[in-house]
Amino acid sequence: MFRQIDGLAMGSPLGPILANIFVGYYEGELLSQRESAKPLLYRRYVDDTFVIFRNESECDQFLIRLNSLHPALQFTIEKERNNSLSFLDVLVEKRNTNKFETSVFRKPTFTGQYLRWNSFSPRRRKINLIGTLVHRALMICSGNKLSLELDCIRKILLDNGYPEHVISRGMERKLTQFNAEKRTEPTARTIKDVYIHLPWIGPISTRFEKQLISAVGKCYDTVKTNVIFTTTQLLPSTRKDVLPALQQSNVVYEYRCHCDCGYVGRTSRRLQDRINQHVLRFIRTRASRDVRSSPLTHPLKIDADRSKAINSAIGKHLLDNPICANNYRDDRFRIVGRGRSQFHLCALESTFIKIHQPKLCQQKEFVYHLKIVH
Ligand SMILES: [Zn+2]
Repeated sequence: MFRQIDGLAMGSPLGPILANIFVGYYEGELLSQRESAKPLLYRRYVDDTFVIFRNESECDQFLIRLNSLHPALQFTIEKERNNSLSFLDVLVEKRNTNKFETSVFRKPTFTGQYLRWNSFSPRRRKINLIGTLVHRALMICSGNKLSLELDCIRKILLDNGYPEHVISRGMERKLTQFNAEKRTEPTARTIKDVYIHLPWIGPISTRFEKQLISAVGKCYDTVKTNVIFTTTQLLPSTRKDVLPALQQSNVVYEYRCHCDCGYVGRTSRRLQDRINQHVLRFIRTRASRDVRSSPLTHPLKIDADRSKAINSAIGKHLLDNPICANNYRDDRFRIVGRGRSQFHLCALESTFIKIHQPKLCQQKEFVYHLKIVH
């Protein structure tokens, strides 16, 4: 880990802003000094300046004063050569008639490499590149330098594999568009409504709304921002006609016995049907008639159903334990999960068994666990 104690981190989004504030402060100090001769023109972009002086000695004095302002502010100077000087990507040339001409400046290291025509990239981006280069030429070049720059762009694009007709069409389109924009007077523009949904979280939402509208208005003066606050319901509206638990299907259910033994299972059918498979009818009907106080007998007629019930861990348990059977009620079954698919049900069931390890499921666990692994 590094702690930055001076300077700015490269690439930090705040970097250029802070650099600008820093340089701007000292610049103001310097330019307000009375004793020194002021330059004829002073233009700066972050830490790059373009300055015009009456003569060279004024220039040298200015540099000395500039560099004495703060130890971190150390400018180097580049003087005009052959009546020309570059500033950012602009080449400024001095003409005899007390005039300046500007054209696009390319560093000596410029390779002419751009997004190639045959690169795997949206076509629109390539077309836009043509527009971007032409736009820069239009913004920077003096009238008599423009055609030279456009020729240069055409050559660069050809070198990058752009078809001639694509270049011509792209350049023409940009030129017409630019000229049309220049001609049209800024008229009363139509205001467009833009809607944004925001959650309402109290009075702070109103303050945020004001800030948002003001910020958007500063950047896009043709946009009218409309904030629509949304609120979440405090009480979720209950769904109408919710199916009774026993009528629901695709569920994982738990059976909790009178003796506290548990069972977890799943069914894609209605829970009631599954219960009917588990619990012999005479036990269920006894429960519904609520005659639990009378002792349970095992009538012979249940023998036919018995073999079926024996396949169910719950059924077998109730047959083996008359006290449990006596205390059986349908509401000992409850839904513990809902599944979207067989697999989902399997996974849920297996998870519940794994966590709660219900006593009546001891044989089941392994089987279902294997299923999940698949
Ligand atoms: Zn029991």
